[in-house]
Amino acid sequence: ERFSIGIDVGGTKIAGLLLDGNKEIVTRATVLVAKDSTDALLTTISGMALSLLESVPLEMRAQCGIGVAVAGWLNRESTYVRFSPHLPLTGVHIRAELEAQLGRPVVVANDADAAGWAEFQLGAAREYDDAACLTLGTGLGSAIIAGGTLVRGHLGMAGELGHICIDPAGPQCPCGGTGCLEIFSSGTGAERAAQRAGLLSDVDSQRTMTGRELVAAAAAGRSDAQAVLDEVAAPLAQALTMVVGALDSGVLVIGGGFGSASEYFLETLRRQYAQLAPHPESRPIVGIEVAQLGAEAGALGAALLSLLEI
Ligand code: BGC
Ligand code: ZN
Repeated sequence: ERFSIGIDVGGTKIAGLLLDGNKEIVTRATVLVAKDSTDALLTTISGMALSLLESVPLEMRAQCGIGVAVAGWLNRESTYVRFSPHLPLTGVHIRAELEAQLGRPVVVANDADAAGWAEFQLGAAREYDDAACLTLGTGLGSAIIAGGTLVRGHLGMAGELGHICIDPAGPQCPCGGTGCLEIFSSGTGAERAAQRAGLLSDVDSQRTMTGRELVAAAAAGRSDAQAVLDEVAAPLAQALTMVVGALDSGVLVIGGGFGSASEYFLETLRRQYAQLAPHPESRPIVGIEVAQLGAEAGALGAALLSLLEI
Protein backbone atom coordinates (compact mmCIF):
# COMPACT_ATOMS: atom_id res chain seq x y z
CA GLU A 1 0.00 0.00 0.00
CA ARG A 2 1.16 3.48 -0.89
CA PHE A 3 1.98 6.34 1.46
CA SER A 4 0.22 9.64 0.86
CA ILE A 5 0.65 13.25 1.85
CA GLY A 6 -2.30 15.57 2.41
CA ILE A 7 -1.98 19.34 2.76
CA ASP A 8 -4.92 21.59 3.62
CA VAL A 9 -4.46 25.25 2.75
CA GLY A 10 -7.12 27.17 4.66
CA GLY A 11 -7.71 30.86 5.13
CA THR A 12 -5.61 30.95 8.29
CA LYS A 13 -3.28 27.96 8.47
CA ILE A 14 -1.78 25.17 6.41
CA ALA A 15 -2.11 21.72 7.95
CA GLY A 16 -0.26 18.74 6.53
CA LEU A 17 -0.02 15.06 7.33
CA LEU A 18 1.51 11.87 6.07
CA LEU A 19 -0.46 8.61 5.88
CA ASP A 20 1.28 5.26 5.81
CA GLY A 21 0.05 2.34 3.73
CA ASN A 22 -2.59 1.51 6.36
CA LYS A 23 -3.93 5.06 6.18
CA GLU A 24 -2.62 5.80 9.65
CA ILE A 25 -1.30 9.30 10.30
CA VAL A 26 2.43 9.04 10.91
CA THR A 27 3.58 12.68 10.70
CA ARG A 28 1.89 16.07 11.03
CA ALA A 29 2.91 19.65 10.22
CA THR A 30 1.28 23.07 10.59
CA VAL A 31 2.27 26.59 9.57
CA LEU A 32 0.44 29.89 9.31
CA VAL A 33 -0.59 30.99 5.83
CA ALA A 34 1.64 33.56 4.14
CA LYS A 35 -1.06 35.66 2.50
CA ASP A 36 1.06 38.38 0.99
CA SER A 37 2.24 36.61 -2.13
CA THR A 38 1.28 33.74 -4.38
CA ASP A 39 4.89 32.64 -4.76
CA ALA A 40 5.49 32.55 -1.02
CA LEU A 41 2.32 30.52 -0.51
CA LEU A 42 3.19 28.01 -3.24
CA THR A 43 6.72 27.65 -1.87
CA THR A 44 5.35 27.04 1.63
CA ILE A 45 3.03 24.32 0.30
CA SER A 46 5.72 22.54 -1.68
CA GLY A 47 8.19 22.98 1.17
CA MET A 48 5.79 21.23 3.52
CA ALA A 49 5.25 18.44 0.97
CA LEU A 50 9.00 17.92 0.63
CA SER A 51 9.58 17.81 4.36
CA LEU A 52 6.73 15.30 4.87
CA LEU A 53 8.19 13.24 2.03
CA GLU A 54 11.37 12.87 4.05
CA SER A 55 9.47 10.75 6.57
CA VAL A 56 8.55 8.26 3.83
CA PRO A 57 10.83 5.20 3.62
CA LEU A 58 13.17 5.72 0.69
CA GLU A 59 11.87 2.83 -1.39
CA MET A 60 8.26 4.10 -1.02
CA ARG A 61 8.89 7.73 -1.99
CA ALA A 62 8.37 7.47 -5.73
CA GLN A 63 4.90 6.00 -5.16
CA CYS A 64 3.79 8.46 -2.50
CA GLY A 65 0.64 10.42 -3.41
CA ILE A 66 0.43 14.16 -2.79
CA GLY A 67 -2.93 15.85 -2.36
CA VAL A 68 -3.37 19.57 -1.78
CA ALA A 69 -6.70 21.03 -0.69
CA VAL A 70 -7.21 24.77 -1.10
CA ALA A 71 -9.91 27.19 -0.02
CA GLY A 72 -10.99 28.33 -3.44
CA TRP A 73 -13.17 27.80 -6.47
CA LEU A 74 -11.45 25.31 -8.74
CA ASN A 75 -12.18 24.43 -12.34
CA ARG A 76 -13.75 21.06 -13.06
CA GLU A 77 -10.38 19.42 -13.75
CA SER A 78 -9.08 20.72 -10.41
CA THR A 79 -6.04 22.27 -12.03
CA TYR A 80 -6.82 25.97 -11.87
CA VAL A 81 -8.15 28.31 -9.15
CA ARG A 82 -10.91 30.42 -10.66
CA PHE A 83 -11.18 32.49 -7.52
CA SER A 84 -10.11 32.39 -3.91
CA PRO A 85 -11.73 34.84 -1.52
CA HIS A 86 -9.19 34.30 1.27
CA LEU A 87 -5.91 33.29 -0.41
CA PRO A 88 -3.66 34.82 -3.08
CA LEU A 89 -4.45 31.99 -5.49
CA THR A 90 -6.98 33.52 -7.86
CA GLY A 91 -6.01 32.75 -11.45
CA VAL A 92 -3.21 30.37 -10.45
CA HIS A 93 -2.65 27.13 -12.39
CA ILE A 94 -2.02 25.49 -9.08
CA ARG A 95 -1.58 21.91 -10.18
CA ALA A 96 1.04 22.73 -12.79
CA GLU A 97 2.84 25.13 -10.45
CA LEU A 98 3.10 22.60 -7.63
CA GLU A 99 4.02 19.76 -9.98
CA ALA A 100 6.81 21.90 -11.43
CA GLN A 101 8.14 22.68 -7.95
CA LEU A 102 7.89 19.11 -6.71
CA GLY A 103 8.76 17.30 -9.93
CA ARG A 104 5.95 14.79 -9.42
CA PRO A 105 2.16 14.47 -9.75
CA VAL A 106 -0.06 16.44 -7.37
CA VAL A 107 -3.82 16.14 -6.92
CA VAL A 108 -5.65 19.36 -6.05
CA ALA A 109 -9.09 19.67 -4.45
CA ASN A 110 -11.27 22.26 -2.79
CA ASP A 111 -10.64 22.22 0.98
CA ALA A 112 -14.26 21.62 1.96
CA ASP A 113 -14.60 18.90 -0.69
CA ALA A 114 -11.52 17.18 0.72
CA ALA A 115 -12.81 17.42 4.29
CA GLY A 116 -16.21 16.10 3.25
CA TRP A 117 -14.59 13.27 1.33
CA ALA A 118 -12.70 12.22 4.46
CA GLU A 119 -15.87 12.35 6.54
CA PHE A 120 -17.64 10.27 3.88
CA GLN A 121 -14.84 7.69 3.75
CA LEU A 122 -13.91 7.46 7.42
CA GLY A 123 -15.96 9.82 9.54
CA ALA A 124 -19.42 11.10 10.38
CA ALA A 125 -20.91 10.54 6.91
CA ARG A 126 -19.58 7.06 6.27
CA GLU A 127 -22.93 5.34 6.67
CA TYR A 128 -24.61 7.60 4.13
CA ASP A 129 -24.74 7.82 0.34
CA ASP A 130 -26.23 11.29 0.56
CA ALA A 131 -24.73 13.87 2.87
CA ALA A 132 -23.69 17.50 3.07
CA CYS A 133 -20.48 18.23 4.97
CA LEU A 134 -19.86 21.84 5.86
CA THR A 135 -16.55 23.40 6.83
CA LEU A 136 -16.76 26.56 8.94
CA GLY A 137 -13.55 28.42 9.56
CA THR A 138 -12.34 31.64 7.99
CA GLY A 139 -14.97 30.96 5.33
CA LEU A 140 -17.78 28.49 4.85
CA GLY A 141 -17.49 25.71 2.30
CA SER A 142 -19.18 22.40 1.74
CA ALA A 143 -18.95 19.03 0.10
CA ILE A 144 -22.09 17.54 -1.37
CA ILE A 145 -22.17 13.76 -1.45
CA ALA A 146 -25.06 12.52 -3.58
CA GLY A 147 -25.67 8.94 -4.58
CA GLY A 148 -22.34 7.91 -3.08
CA THR A 149 -20.19 10.35 -5.06
CA LEU A 150 -18.77 13.79 -4.53
CA VAL A 151 -20.76 16.25 -6.63
CA ARG A 152 -18.48 18.51 -8.63
CA GLY A 153 -21.05 20.46 -10.60
CA HIS A 154 -21.00 21.90 -14.11
CA LEU A 155 -18.05 24.21 -13.48
CA GLY A 156 -16.47 22.22 -10.65
CA MET A 157 -17.85 24.61 -8.05
CA ALA A 158 -20.71 22.65 -6.49
CA GLY A 159 -21.22 23.22 -2.79
CA GLU A 160 -20.09 26.85 -2.61
CA LEU A 161 -22.73 27.48 0.04
CA GLY A 162 -20.68 30.18 1.71
CA HIS A 163 -21.36 32.56 -1.15
CA ILE A 164 -25.08 32.20 -1.43
CA CYS A 165 -26.75 35.54 -0.80
CA ILE A 166 -28.67 35.50 2.46
CA ASP A 167 -29.27 39.22 2.77
CA PRO A 168 -29.21 41.43 -0.36
CA ALA A 169 -28.83 44.47 1.91
CA GLY A 170 -26.08 42.83 3.96
CA PRO A 171 -22.37 43.65 4.15
CA GLN A 172 -19.95 43.15 1.31
CA CYS A 173 -18.18 39.82 1.06
CA PRO A 174 -14.54 39.35 0.00
CA CYS A 175 -15.98 37.52 -3.05
CA GLY A 176 -17.50 40.76 -4.30
CA GLY A 177 -21.02 39.66 -3.46
CA THR A 178 -23.35 41.06 -0.84
CA GLY A 179 -24.68 39.42 2.31
CA CYS A 180 -23.15 35.98 1.62
CA LEU A 181 -23.86 33.19 4.10
CA GLU A 182 -20.25 33.02 5.32
CA ILE A 183 -20.33 36.69 6.32
CA PHE A 184 -22.76 35.62 9.05
CA SER A 185 -22.13 31.95 9.74
CA SER A 186 -18.41 31.15 9.96
CA GLY A 187 -15.58 31.78 12.38
CA THR A 188 -15.10 35.21 10.83
CA GLY A 189 -18.86 35.80 10.91
CA ALA A 190 -19.03 34.93 14.60
CA GLU A 191 -16.19 37.31 15.36
CA ARG A 192 -17.90 40.04 13.41
CA ALA A 193 -21.16 39.46 15.28
CA ALA A 194 -19.40 39.56 18.65
CA GLN A 195 -17.71 42.78 17.62
CA ARG A 196 -20.96 44.42 16.51
CA ALA A 197 -22.54 43.46 19.81
CA GLY A 198 -19.50 44.81 21.67
CA LEU A 199 -18.94 41.55 23.57
CA LEU A 200 -15.62 41.77 25.37
CA SER A 201 -13.32 38.79 25.71
CA ASP A 202 -13.23 37.06 29.10
CA VAL A 203 -9.52 36.52 28.56
CA ASP A 204 -8.60 40.08 27.64
CA SER A 205 -11.17 42.79 28.32
CA GLN A 206 -9.31 45.18 26.02
CA ARG A 207 -10.64 43.43 22.94
CA THR A 208 -13.83 41.84 21.61
CA MET A 209 -14.34 38.09 21.54
CA THR A 210 -13.11 35.82 18.81
CA GLY A 211 -15.58 33.42 17.23
CA ARG A 212 -14.44 30.56 19.40
CA GLU A 213 -14.60 32.66 22.54
CA LEU A 214 -18.16 33.57 21.61
CA VAL A 215 -19.17 29.90 21.43
CA ALA A 216 -17.31 29.12 24.65
CA ALA A 217 -19.02 31.99 26.48
CA ALA A 218 -22.42 30.91 25.14
CA ALA A 219 -21.75 27.33 26.23
CA ALA A 220 -20.75 28.59 29.68
CA GLY A 221 -24.17 30.23 30.00
CA ARG A 222 -23.54 33.89 29.17
CA SER A 223 -26.90 35.00 27.82
CA ASP A 224 -25.55 37.92 25.78
CA ALA A 225 -23.21 35.50 23.99
CA GLN A 226 -26.06 33.04 23.47
CA ALA A 227 -28.19 35.71 21.81
CA VAL A 228 -25.37 36.66 19.44
CA LEU A 229 -24.62 33.02 18.64
CA ASP A 230 -28.30 32.54 17.79
CA GLU A 231 -27.88 35.23 15.15
CA VAL A 232 -24.74 33.54 13.82
CA ALA A 233 -26.47 30.19 13.49
CA ALA A 234 -29.83 31.36 12.12
CA PRO A 235 -28.88 31.95 8.46
CA LEU A 236 -27.02 28.64 8.42
CA ALA A 237 -29.98 26.74 9.85
CA GLN A 238 -32.11 28.22 7.11
CA ALA A 239 -29.56 27.36 4.43
CA LEU A 240 -29.45 23.79 5.74
CA THR A 241 -33.19 23.39 5.26
CA MET A 242 -32.66 24.41 1.63
CA VAL A 243 -29.80 21.95 1.19
CA VAL A 244 -31.96 19.14 2.54
CA GLY A 245 -34.95 20.33 0.53
CA ALA A 246 -32.88 20.22 -2.66
CA LEU A 247 -30.74 17.15 -2.03
CA ASP A 248 -32.52 15.01 0.54
CA SER A 249 -29.26 14.60 2.45
CA GLY A 250 -29.26 11.90 5.12
CA VAL A 251 -26.91 13.71 7.45
CA LEU A 252 -25.45 17.19 7.81
CA VAL A 253 -21.87 17.17 9.07
CA ILE A 254 -20.44 20.36 10.57
CA GLY A 255 -16.65 20.70 10.70
CA GLY A 256 -13.83 23.20 10.35
CA GLY A 257 -11.97 25.04 13.09
CA PHE A 258 -15.05 26.98 14.12
CA GLY A 259 -17.77 24.46 13.22
CA SER A 260 -16.31 21.57 15.15
CA ALA A 261 -15.20 23.60 18.18
CA SER A 262 -18.30 23.25 20.30
CA GLU A 263 -21.24 20.96 20.90
CA TYR A 264 -23.17 24.03 22.02
CA PHE A 265 -23.03 25.52 18.51
CA LEU A 266 -24.36 22.26 17.06
CA GLU A 267 -27.16 22.19 19.62
CA THR A 268 -28.08 25.74 18.62
CA LEU A 269 -28.18 24.72 14.97
CA ARG A 270 -30.25 21.61 15.71
CA ARG A 271 -32.79 23.60 17.68
CA GLN A 272 -33.12 26.23 14.96
CA TYR A 273 -33.21 23.67 12.20
CA ALA A 274 -35.98 21.71 13.92
CA GLN A 275 -38.04 24.88 14.19
CA LEU A 276 -37.73 25.54 10.46
CA ALA A 277 -37.94 22.02 9.05
CA PRO A 278 -41.27 21.47 7.33
CA HIS A 279 -43.58 18.52 7.99
CA PRO A 280 -41.41 16.39 10.29
CA GLU A 281 -44.00 13.55 10.17
CA SER A 282 -43.13 12.83 6.53
CA ARG A 283 -39.55 14.06 6.47
CA PRO A 284 -37.82 13.07 9.69
CA ILE A 285 -35.51 15.80 11.00
CA VAL A 286 -32.04 15.25 9.57
CA GLY A 287 -29.20 14.66 12.03
CA ILE A 288 -26.68 17.48 12.39
CA GLU A 289 -23.42 15.84 13.46
CA VAL A 290 -20.00 17.13 14.35
CA ALA A 291 -17.19 16.21 11.94
CA GLN A 292 -15.42 13.21 13.45
CA LEU A 293 -12.08 13.95 11.88
CA GLY A 294 -12.05 17.45 13.32
CA ALA A 295 -9.66 20.02 11.99
CA GLU A 296 -7.60 17.33 10.23
CA ALA A 297 -10.37 16.31 7.86
CA GLY A 298 -9.18 18.50 4.97
CA ALA A 299 -5.62 17.21 4.99
CA LEU A 300 -6.79 13.63 5.43
CA GLY A 301 -9.24 13.97 2.55
CA ALA A 302 -6.54 15.45 0.32
CA ALA A 303 -4.28 12.47 1.06
CA LEU A 304 -7.10 10.01 0.34
CA LEU A 305 -7.99 11.76 -2.91
CA SER A 306 -4.37 11.61 -4.06
CA LEU A 307 -4.50 7.82 -3.76
CA LEU A 308 -7.64 7.67 -5.87
CA GLU A 309 -6.67 9.86 -8.73
CA ILE A 310 -3.13 8.95 -9.65
C1 BGC B 1 -14.52 29.46 -0.24
C2 BGC B 1 -14.59 27.96 -0.42
C3 BGC B 1 -13.93 27.27 0.75
C4 BGC B 1 -14.50 27.77 2.05
C5 BGC B 1 -13.85 27.13 3.26
C6 BGC B 1 -15.06 29.84 1.11
O1 BGC B 1 -14.93 31.21 1.29
O2 BGC B 1 -15.28 30.09 -1.24
O3 BGC B 1 -14.00 27.58 -1.64
O4 BGC B 1 -14.14 25.87 0.62
O5 BGC B 1 -14.36 29.16 2.15
O6 BGC B 1 -12.48 27.39 3.34
ZN1 ZN C 1 -19.22 35.84 -0.85
